[in-house]
Amino acid sequence: MEEVRGLLSSEDNDFTWSSWDDRNAGLAELDEILFALRGGFEVPVHTLRVLFAPTGPIQEVSLSSGWGDAFIALADRFDEAMVEKPENGEHAQDLELDSFCGCLENPIGRGIHVKELGMDSRFAEISVFQCRDCGRHWLRYFYEVEAFTRSGRWYLGCVTPEQFAGLTVENAKGVMEALDWYLYGGSYYNGLMGKTSGEIQLIS
Ligand SMILES: [Zn+2]
Repeated sequence: MEEVRGLLSSEDNDFTWSSWDDRNAGLAELDEILFALRGGFEVPVHTLRVLFAPTGPIQEVSLSSGWGDAFIALADRFDEAMVEKPENGEHAQDLELDSFCGCLENPIGRGIHVKELGMDSRFAEISVFQCRDCGRHWLRYFYEVEAFTRSGRWYLGCVTPEQFAGLTVENAKGVMEALDWYLYGGSYYNGLMGKTSGEIQLIS
């Protein structure tokens, strides 16, 4: 998908015969799919098949823009990748989310696909990453008062795919506090790390 996006992003492309209004519309659709894939969400197979279909939008752009052969090669790889999916893909993911992973004891250093959500109204920084081994999503809530040394504190909690999907900067603290447990650490805690639950106290 990243390669397709790269090919589509060229300023020289001609989108006239594709179902997309213009380059931006095409890239917007690709970005949505890439965002979902990186976040571990399922993208309807039908949506992908339409994109890569003969006379589908990508092929139309490729033919009008002089990279028809490159598209055929990509479409072949797409078909190959899709054959294995129903057998292993979904099932493996479910299994991994049910089973134990080392990240449940210490998720630090296992993160990939970091997504910065931004700051909430308390000026805490919120981000989410995925465990590179099991794909679990970890919510990170970091708070620091710059004027005070040893005020930095972070909280890390494992959220479900549903909680991840509904996450916003403003509900992040509440989502963390509603978890069965989460980890805490940082200079505020003298560099110690531990497990806790309940309300996150920021003023003290
Ligand atoms: Zn893990």
